[in-house]
This record gives sequence, structure tokens and C-alpha cells, in this order.
Amino acid sequence: MASKEVIIALDEGTTNAKAVALDASGKVLVSRSRALSINTPREGWVEQPAELLVSASLAVIAEVIETVGADNVAALAISNQRETAVGWYRNNGRPLGAAITWQCSRTAGFCQSLRQQGKEAQIKAVTGLPIAPLFSASKMRWLLESVPNGVGLAESGEICLGTVDSWLLWNLTGGDAFCCDYSNAARTQLFNLHTANWDDEMLALFGIPRQALPEIRPSSGLFGYTHKCAGIPDGIPVMAMIGDSHAALFAHGLGSAGCVKATYGTGSSVMAPVNSAQSGVDALATTVAWHDGERLVYGLEGNIPHTGDAVAWMVESTGLDLLPPSELAQQLSQLPASVDSTLGVYFVPALTGLGAPWWDENARGMIRGLSRGVKRAHLVRAALESITYQIADVVMTMRQHDDFALTALMVDGGPTRNDWLMQYQADLLGCPVMRSDVTELSAMGAALLARKAQRGLPTAELRQFLPEHVSFQPDMARHGRLQKRWHEWQSAVELTRLQTAPL
Ligand code: ADP
Repeated sequence: MASKEVIIALDEGTTNAKAVALDASGKVLVSRSRALSINTPREGWVEQPAELLVSASLAVIAEVIETVGADNVAALAISNQRETAVGWYRNNGRPLGAAITWQCSRTAGFCQSLRQQGKEAQIKAVTGLPIAPLFSASKMRWLLESVPNGVGLAESGEICLGTVDSWLLWNLTGGDAFCCDYSNAARTQLFNLHTANWDDEMLALFGIPRQALPEIRPSSGLFGYTHKCAGIPDGIPVMAMIGDSHAALFAHGLGSAGCVKATYGTGSSVMAPVNSAQSGVDALATTVAWHDGERLVYGLEGNIPHTGDAVAWMVESTGLDLLPPSELAQQLSQLPASVDSTLGVYFVPALTGLGAPWWDENARGMIRGLSRGVKRAHLVRAALESITYQIADVVMTMRQHDDFALTALMVDGGPTRNDWLMQYQADLLGCPVMRSDVTELSAMGAALLARKAQRGLPTAELRQFLPEHVSFQPDMARHGRLQKRWHEWQSAVELTRLQTAPL
């Protein structure tokens, strides 16, 4: 191993902190992970101990450094769960309380009051984001209100409010660096997409003093040096920070036009790189994909709450959950292939409402078109098809953006191991679906940005380090036939929207 060529990328997610060491060619050498606890102290509240995010991250980084040898480490890179907010005291680094995670809806009431004041259009125009408790701004407001004189202390610079990247950086550098990257800043709802800085009107609306916020820096570049962390030598440069979904998009294709990313998991995130912050597509978020040190790249994003989750629900409901995991995975490919169609069944998994592009929290799920001949295989196939239709609905909405192009859908996540699902997605969209052969895509994206900074490379030259993809080519004759089904699916979605939430 050449000296000083290893990049250690931390992927600090919601359920795990994982550190991955990559060699000079981008190959994964070793990885270590720790599970993270998630607490739900009240209905709708979701939080994680802020100290735990740090201790687990530092521990996995230290373990990986020990394995590869500190002398070989060139730089650290961070990809992180987005929107989660942390507050801490500047003088001693003590958190104000737990990290309020992205899923937490404790600020739904405040968000509703913003809607009632008619602020939605203004907020969307400035930040690219709809009003929702998901984003960090309302959570930061809540954190300030949770301690005595919080706003006053923030105004006098005694409290720091940050995204997870800034919290980890602060701790990795012994309190020397207080910065976040553009992608994380763009998910706070305090960031003006057009001026590329914190926005005074948004700060006033959410009651956040500017002095409490981190400095915003390019995702690729020097953020600071490790300092006073147990098990981690001082002086290792942190050379990249980026939100996890954005990092995966970067690792799939460096943001080339036409490379649209879909992460399949419990839910899904679909993200496309675009050249401008002007969106005009109300149903989707406009955000910063990254700043690679050369320029700011914007992203269009749609989040779908129930994709793999629809399969999980169907698996439980049809008794398939009794199978051992490997057999279940096999069945999830074999069952849908064993029938020619769903026999006209459509499953709209609006289990807690519909996300992008429909945004209807009152919609509830339905299975439409049951007839006597419908068997388990048809139902499972309907659940799998529902993933592909939902992804296609978001992609279709993205087409409204002037810059949008689709040459390939780049995919990652657990359900993408299902070949039947991938082929159906390719046929439905009429474009190739490209599955990454590495699972640590977010870590890899952050590592690529650090490699760029460390070697001073233009982004285009990172192409040599990109992971291989398995390609699923569309059958265009089938693509034509599937359009009718896609329309029928859309009628089924409309029906779920006519329903109201359960009484
Ligand atoms: P997350 O990152 O959201 O925890 P994963 O990427 O591990 O999720 O994916 C888990 C989801 O994928 C579950 O909802 C599960 O139902 C679904 N899933 C798992 N295996 C398959 C498969 N072979 N085909 C389709 N969906 C699957």
C-alpha cells in the first residue's frame, strides 16, 4: 500500500455509523460499523443522543485507522444523515439536548402556522423546499426554545446550531472548525439557493441568529485537522463533507447530465443533477447537490415514503415473512415472474400518505382490482410494481424542469438486488437501469470528493475511480405495452386521494 493514499470515509446514517477505508484506486479495503439507537420519547418525536453520533463515528474511524495504519491515511471524508439538527455550547461543546432527527415531526405545529401565514410560496422560492418539519430550521428553533435564554445565547455567539456534518467536524477537530458543506446547508431551509448563503428573511422567520450557524464551505476542500480525539492521531485533514443522498448521486456518475439516481430502501429518494436553482416544479424539492470546489451543482429531488416498505407490508400480509431471508429474497424475484401480470391488481402503498410527487398526507393505501383468480404471486407482483410506478411518477415530474435529462437510472439500495424489479423498472421507463456493484455508495461519494481535494484533480478525472455498474437494458416493445398499466396505476392513485385518513 503506497504511503498516505488511503481515504477514510465515514457514512454517518440514521441506523449505523460506518467507516470505510478506500485505497488509491478507490477499492474498499476495510469497513467497520456501529448500530445507533433511535429514541421516540413521544408520538411523532424522533431523536438520537448527540454524543452517540460522535462516539460511534469516532470509534469506527479509530478502528479503521488501526487496521490500515495511521501512516497510510491521507484524509477523512464525511457523508451524513441530512436535516437532523444539533445544538451545543461553544465554550465546552456540550449538546443542548438530543439530536432531533430528520424523521421527527415535533415542529409540525410551527410549520402549520407558517403555512397559515401564507409563507409557503416565499419559502419555496428562496430555499427550494416545501414547508415541512423534516428540515432543520424548525428543529433548530425548537432547540433554542428548549434552553433558558437560548435565543440570547445564540445571538451572543455562545450557542452553535448545526447539521450532523458540522457537529462531527467540530468534535473531530477539537472545536477548531465550525463549518458545514453546501449540500447540508441547503437542507436546513435557511439557505438561499440564489445567493448561496444563509438568508436573512428565513433566519428571521425561523428565529435563528446567524451567529449560531456554521460557515458554509464547498463539499470538497480542507475543513480542518483532527485534534484531541481518542484513538485518532492529530493532524489528519478532513477533506470532504456531503449529505448521504447527494454523495450517492456523486458516486454514481459525478453528476453527469442524464444520470438520475434512485435509492431504493424502506422509502426512496430520486435525485437528478440540474444546472440552475430555478425550478418551477412545485411537487419536487430543489436543492444543492454539492459544491465540488469548482462549481455549485443543483439537484431536483423527490422523496417517496413507501417503496420497499410496500413489499415489506405485502410480505407480512401474505405470510412470506415466515421464510428465511435468503429464501424470501429468491421468492421476491420468482413469484412476480411466475405470472404474466397482476391480473389487473394495483397496490397503492399510501400507508402514511403519499410523498412526491403527490404530497397528500391524508391519502391511505388501497389494493384495487381484486378478482377470484388473484393469488399471492399477483399481490406480491403488485407490491413490486408499485415501487417502479412511484419512481416513474417522480421521474415524469422531473421532466417538467427545463434542464432535466434522463439517459440512465442509476440505482442503489437493498431492493435493487431483485433482478425482476430492475428489469421491470427499465422496461417501464424505457431507459437503462444501472445497478452499482458497491453497497457503500455514500461513503464512496464522500471519498471521491476528498480524493479530488487531496490530489487537486478536476472532477472529470475522478471518473477512473467510479464503481462498476450492472446494466438492465429496456425492452422497448414491452415499454410501449406498459404505458397502459402505468395510466391505470395513476387512476388508482387518484382513488386513494379521494379517501380521507381513517376515522
Ligand atoms: P433501508 O436502508 O431503508 O433500511 P434497505 O436498503 O436495506 O433499507 O432495504 C430494505 C427494504 O427493501 C425493505 O422495505 C424490504 O421490504 C425491501 N426489500 C428487501 N429485499 C427485497 C427484494 N429482494 N425485493 C424487493 N424489495 C426488497
